[in-house]
Amino acid sequence: MAKCSLCGNEAVATIRYARLKLCKDHFISFIQRKVKRTIDRYGLIERGHRVVLAVSSGKDSVCMADILVKLSKELAYEVVAIHLDLGIEGYSSKLRAAFVELCTRLNVVGFIIDVVELLGGMNVADLAKKLRRPICSVCGIVKRYLLNAVAEALNASSIATGHNADDMVCYIIKSFLNQDYAYMSKLTPKTCPVPGAVPRIRPLYEVYERETLIYCILRQIPYVHTPCPYAPRRSLDVELKRALSLLEEHSPGLKISFLRRFVRNASKYKQESAVYVQRCSYCGSISSSSKCAFCKITEKALGKPMGMEVKKKIEALIQNRDRR
Ligand code: SF4
Ligand code: ZN
Ligand code: ZN
Repeated sequence: MAKCSLCGNEAVATIRYARLKLCKDHFISFIQRKVKRTIDRYGLIERGHRVVLAVSSGKDSVCMADILVKLSKELAYEVVAIHLDLGIEGYSSKLRAAFVELCTRLNVVGFIIDVVELLGGMNVADLAKKLRRPICSVCGIVKRYLLNAVAEALNASSIATGHNADDMVCYIIKSFLNQDYAYMSKLTPKTCPVPGAVPRIRPLYEVYERETLIYCILRQIPYVHTPCPYAPRRSLDVELKRALSLLEEHSPGLKISFLRRFVRNASKYKQESAVYVQRCSYCGSISSSSKCAFCKITEKALGKPMGMEVKKKIEALIQNRDRR
């Protein structure tokens, strides 16, 4: 039986890059401390901030939520959890139930934003079908818009997402392969997708995917492990992650060193984003043109741009909750 390098109890995980074997308790505190260091190192959260936790109910976002709720007392910030119910048949209901269970367990305020309710009975799959566009690209527009709208309605300081170290290395390399430096410059621990929008923070920037899985299992946090039925099985992301895992196996810690070096140099990739100076003439959101992507797709699919209506519904949902 392997022993914990710190206390001699039975070890449950080996952290090769730190040359440690850890027991359950020491593994949990190792990951929590790592996230706290990331928050400090990159100035992700300040005292008095209100942080929106974007929880899909997959292992990464519930791990992020569990740790940020725990740290909120120590670092004196407020958290509000958000879940977007995309209305995907046989899938979204499981995510929603796990989210409700998580909020109860963490004793945190949670809001469910129901896409079908907001879009007059359409889910993201119906929307994509009507638009004849790939579902993930439509889903991405809807998710970005709704998350931002909720964060604005809550007057939040930032939106925390569950992207882990493996995701981030993969996105950075993919954007390099595509020579998309503007996107690459945004792949830092804290970023503002569009000037004027609510910043995104990635507290799991230095936590490996394998570590979020072990963390959720050890903490017995409710999460859904089945992937979305529309997730592509063989994508460049999947192949890149596989190749990068082999490199990490050969040189433990490679991904974290890469990410730290990347952050130091990321400003070099920044490009003038003069395109983002407009506001959507329908809903007032900051946009690269006079009509934001959400208003464009809803106008095409539903006959009218829905941004303003959706924002009002979200504000009403939040105010009703505040009044309770
Ligand atoms: Fe949306 Fe599913 Fe595609 Fe993810 S995989 S973007 S949840 S449709
Ligand atoms: Zn121990
Ligand atoms: Zn709009």
